[in-house]
Amino acid sequence: MHDKSIRELADSLRAGEFSSEELTRHFLDRIERHDGGLNSFITVCAEEALEAARVADQRLRAGEGGALTGIPMAHKDIFCTAGVRTSCGSRMLDNFVAPYDATVTERLKAAGAVMLGKTNMDEFAMGSSNETSYYGPVRNPWNTHTVPGGSSGGSAVAVAARLAPFATGTDTGGSIRQPASLCGITGLKPTYGRVSRWGMIAFASSLDQGGPMTRTAEDAALVLQAMAGFDPRDSTCVDREVPDYHSALENDISGLTIGLPKEFFAEGMDEGVARVVEAAIGEYRRLGAEVKEISLPNSGLSVPAYYVVAPAECSSNLSRFDGVRFGHRCEEPKDLEDLYKRSRGEGFGAEVKRRIMIGTYALSAGYYDAYYLKAQQIRRLISDDFRRAFQEVDVIMGPTSPGVAFRLGEKSDDPVSMYLSDIYTIAVNLAGLPGISIPAGFSDGLPVGLQIIGDYFQEGRLLNVAHRFQQATDWHRQAPEGYA
Ligand code: GLN
Repeated sequence: MHDKSIRELADSLRAGEFSSEELTRHFLDRIERHDGGLNSFITVCAEEALEAARVADQRLRAGEGGALTGIPMAHKDIFCTAGVRTSCGSRMLDNFVAPYDATVTERLKAAGAVMLGKTNMDEFAMGSSNETSYYGPVRNPWNTHTVPGGSSGGSAVAVAARLAPFATGTDTGGSIRQPASLCGITGLKPTYGRVSRWGMIAFASSLDQGGPMTRTAEDAALVLQAMAGFDPRDSTCVDREVPDYHSALENDISGLTIGLPKEFFAEGMDEGVARVVEAAIGEYRRLGAEVKEISLPNSGLSVPAYYVVAPAECSSNLSRFDGVRFGHRCEEPKDLEDLYKRSRGEGFGAEVKRRIMIGTYALSAGYYDAYYLKAQQIRRLISDDFRRAFQEVDVIMGPTSPGVAFRLGEKSDDPVSMYLSDIYTIAVNLAGLPGISIPAGFSDGLPVGLQIIGDYFQEGRLLNVAHRFQQATDWHRQAPEGYA
C-alpha cells in the first residue's frame, strides 16, 4: 500500500480494495516500526487519525469527496493544528497547543486528508540539516549517518521512507526543495502569495511559503490544488484564480526553452551533482526542449542578502515569544526583566539566538541603511535578473543543492558552510518565484535533485515539466533500502 502514489491510493479507496482506516493503520504501523531510527515525527496522533479516517470512509462510501479524501498525510510542525501540539521544533513551544488550524491545515482537512502527525524540523525553520531541532536530528533513510536536509527534513524523510504518502513543508530559503533533493522526493515551493501563511508560524514573513512534499509531480499537483488560493486572513495572499494543475500535467513540452544560468554551473558544485544535472538536461533535450545559456549576474549576492533580510524579519517575528502569553516560561522569575531574559534564554536554541542577534543588529538605528536597506536593494536586482531571464526562456534549471546529503555533525560548527547549502535556492525566495526539486539521479548512492524555477504563478508549468520527466525516468520511484 505504502508504495502507491496518491492517485493510485485514491483509486484503490474508491474501488474498495481497502478502507481509509486500514490505510491509516498501515502507515501508523510503519511509523511505529521505522521512525525510532529516523526521528521524522515529533507528534503522532493515532487516535485522531483513525477517527478522521472513519469519517473519510463514510464520505467515500457515499460517493463523496475528492482526490485526497481518506489519504494519510503529515504536517510540518510549523503549521498550527487545533488540539494537537505545534512545537516548531523548539523548546519554546514544547507545550503549545494551538486553539485553531492554519489555513493549509484547514483546507487539507476539508479535502478529507487524514493527519498522521507532525513532523520534525529545524527550530523555527532555521537550518539546512534538521540538526537545530529541540527534538534531535532526523536521519536520512538513504544513509542514516547523513542529514535529510532542512528545515522540512522530517517531512522529507516521512515521504521518502514511505511513512506518509505526502507531507507539507515550508520554504523560506530552500527548506522544501533542499530536503526534497537530499531525500530523493519531489518538493514544490509555490509563488509567494499562492498559499496562505495564516497559522503558519512566521520565520521571515516576506519569504516564507508553504508547499507540498510528495513522491511525484502528479501528487504535488493534487496537494497544491487543495492548499492554494486566496485567504483574506493573510494580507500577502494573492487573490487570483487557482488553475486546474492536474489537467496541465500532460501538456507537450517540445519547444520548451530551458535557461541554464552560467553562474549555477560555475565552481562549487560537487562533480557527481553536476553529472546528474547534465544527464537530466540531456533527457529534456530528448523530450524536445531547447537549452539556452543565460546569466543571473546578481545571484552570488543572494546568500549575503538573505542573511540580512531573514534574520531581521525573524528578530521581529520572534519577539512575541516572551514567556508571558504562550510558550515556555522560566521557573520563579525575580521580576519582569528576569522573566523575559530567562524564558527566551532557555526557550531558544543557539541558531535561533544567533539569528535574533544578527537581525536586531541589522535593524538598529544607524545600521539599517547599511544592512537592511542595502539587502532590499540587492533583492530588487535579483528579481530583475529573473525578469530579464524569463523574457527569453520558459523555465530555468540547475541543481537544487551543491552536494548530496552530508554527514550528521559535519557542518554544525561552521554556519557559513551550512548557509551555502542553499546557494541555488535562496534567490528564488528573494524574488518570490516558484521552484520545484525533483529526483534526477544518484551520486555516491545518495539522491540528487534537479531544480526547475518558473515565472510568477507558473506552478502549473513546473508541474507539467516535472511530470513529463517523471514519465520518462524512474528516479522518483526509487526507495531507500529497507523502506520499500
Ligand atoms: N536554510 C535556510 C535557513 O537556515 C532556509 C531555511 C528555510 O527555508 N526555512 O534559513
